[in-house]
Amino acid sequence: MDRRKFVKGAGIAGAAGLLAACGKQAGTTECVEGASAAREETFEWKMVTTWPRDFPGLGTGANYLANIIGEMSGGRLTVKVYGSNELVPALEVFDAVQRGVAEMGHGGAYYWKGVIPASPFFSTIPFGLTGAEMNGWFYHGGGMELYHEAYAPHGITPYPIGNSGTQMGGWFNKEINSVDDLAGLKMRIPGFGGEVLKKVGGTPVNIPGGELFTALQNGTIDATEWVGPMNDLAFGLFRAAKHYYYPGWHEPGTALEALVNQEAFGALPADLQAIVKVACQAANADMYADFEARNGEALKSLVEEHGVDLRPFPDEVLAELKRASTEVIEELAASDAMAAKVWASLSAYIDRVKGSTAIGSQYFVDRR
Ligand code: CA
Repeated sequence: MDRRKFVKGAGIAGAAGLLAACGKQAGTTECVEGASAAREETFEWKMVTTWPRDFPGLGTGANYLANIIGEMSGGRLTVKVYGSNELVPALEVFDAVQRGVAEMGHGGAYYWKGVIPASPFFSTIPFGLTGAEMNGWFYHGGGMELYHEAYAPHGITPYPIGNSGTQMGGWFNKEINSVDDLAGLKMRIPGFGGEVLKKVGGTPVNIPGGELFTALQNGTIDATEWVGPMNDLAFGLFRAAKHYYYPGWHEPGTALEALVNQEAFGALPADLQAIVKVACQAANADMYADFEARNGEALKSLVEEHGVDLRPFPDEVLAELKRASTEVIEELAASDAMAAKVWASLSAYIDRVKGSTAIGSQYFVDRR
């Protein structure tokens, strides 16, 4: 991709000319003016998302990220957000960023498992890490380096830009009293969760969020998971299914991601590159806090105002799902070298933190 494609406006020709002069007359006024003009270069990026525009938590998280990049850069890098289907369909976001149709994407890593088999490890794994533990792995446990390595062959650099916290098990129109009730079940459940459902006899379907309500209501699917109380309430899924199950065994702390086109990123000056990276980190913290703060309120509304039948999966069902989850993860690790490398890191990290979580934050959660 041509670097100039990412550069807006007339400022660039003058800046380039002055910088050329700077090379000949280092330290002169022209050199200083040239550097200053370079700082005035402006860039206009597009961000395509897998979410409907302004969708609570996820779409608003994309808006937040775009806004802070614009603010932190003083308008030198602006990012225009497109909801799903506005520029490209939800599940074509990865492809759009890879081809440079958009410089950034906003979605979930597990949507891309067909392209990068290891990608689901960077969103969440069944019965795995909480959001807080996941952030530890990304920033200080070797996760970020592996994340970048896995996407590098596709010309994309990914960053964690949010976490949904622990999700819900989903919406069902029939009761799940034993593992047999999962057999033949057609359920929207992406990533590892879908593979696990297949292992226990169900049929996973991956359809974008915007189509869930209709699919559940007209019986195209028997059940769906989406996110957690805040998002599920916003979609009105309680109007399309009878039972709301917990826990979200398949998504204990789902990380969301930004995709950044490597060439577009490389065309930025160093300070704008730093702004993109730090903005992603700030967006990550902000979205996680948003979900944590609002899920409780939404759950109360679902149960008390909408009369939702909230119920846990039976222990026997969870035990079987956990057994199948281990099989799915180990099969994936055995089939793909990058997946094996990521799983080795992640499983070692889980071993390292589970003891301190159990006697740390978990101790208080269990006693409130
Ligand atoms: Ca989900």
